[in-house]
Amino acid sequence: MAEASVQTGTTVQAAPRRRVTRGEYVVAFNEETNPDVNVLRFNPTNGQMFDFDAGQFVSVSAVKPDGKRIARDYSIFSPPAFRDGFELCVKRVQGGFMSNYLCDLKKGDKINAIGPMGAFTIRKPLPPEIFFVSTGTGVAPFRAMAETLLSQGVKEQIYLIFGTRHPEDIIYRSYFEELESKYENFHYLPTLSRADDTWKGHRGHVQETLKKYLQDPAQKDIYICGLQIMVDQVKDLAVSSGVSPNHVYYERYD
Ligand SMILES: Cc1cc2nc3c(=O)[nH]c(=O)nc-3n(C[C@H](O)[C@H](O)[C@H](O)COP(=O)(O)OP(=O)(O)OC[C@H]3O[C@@H](n4cnc5c(N)ncnc54)[C@H](O)[C@@H]3O)c2cc1C
Repeated sequence: MAEASVQTGTTVQAAPRRRVTRGEYVVAFNEETNPDVNVLRFNPTNGQMFDFDAGQFVSVSAVKPDGKRIARDYSIFSPPAFRDGFELCVKRVQGGFMSNYLCDLKKGDKINAIGPMGAFTIRKPLPPEIFFVSTGTGVAPFRAMAETLLSQGVKEQIYLIFGTRHPEDIIYRSYFEELESKYENFHYLPTLSRADDTWKGHRGHVQETLKKYLQDPAQKDIYICGLQIMVDQVKDLAVSSGVSPNHVYYERYD
């Protein structure tokens, strides 16, 4: 199992510990939302959904064709306020087992999972500006965090920088666009590295978009989620631009 990393600061408050539960969950829906990306909803078969904080993950286990049981971690995509179950946003990894196993599940199939786990959660007090920076399915914890903060009516400015290659790879685009039109303090900044001329938004990598917003580094908390190479580059950029390392939090998927 890959290891989750989280940078914790000294001046910030961590979320209270949640009870970790081992449970069986049934697939309520499984939808391919983007090429090679599925959103799945799982409901507990005993009807008892665990409590969690936005940003936490579950560990899903399954038996491979060779008989070996393996476990992989997945950030919870749905916000904690949704009490029927939890959603995951999973990218198929070529040659991988668990990601394809999950994406191939049918409604009614069952899985085993343990959760919630992880300390990649929103730190309080909130600074004036909160940046969520992700690529690919690294957006999963930020869907839960953004919806949670906005529905609580926070007034701080929240920026979501999401990087991918092409417009069709933008995960939950219409959902985040709706959130942006509903809340004036939510700023959605999808950034494409290989868009054609019709794309009017940000171009390049997430680092380039973040750079444009890095004035007043003392005012910001930066949360980063995705593959290690991106996480490390964004972390380095934030710190070299003056953001305190104690205000940079990250979760690495590999
Ligand atoms: C805390 C945590 C949360 C995670 N949350 C999610 C999530 O919400 N959605 C999700 O799709 N994945 C998530 N992952 C990654 C997930 O745990 C698996 O590593 C991934 O699904 C591949 O598993 P696999 O068994 O298919 O392939 P494996 O055989 O385990 O991995 C094959 C290779 O794929 C790489 N890889 C892992 N994740 C990705 C990815 N997203 N894109 C491209 N390459 C990748 C790994 O580095 C590895 O080299 C998370 C990982 C961690 C540690």
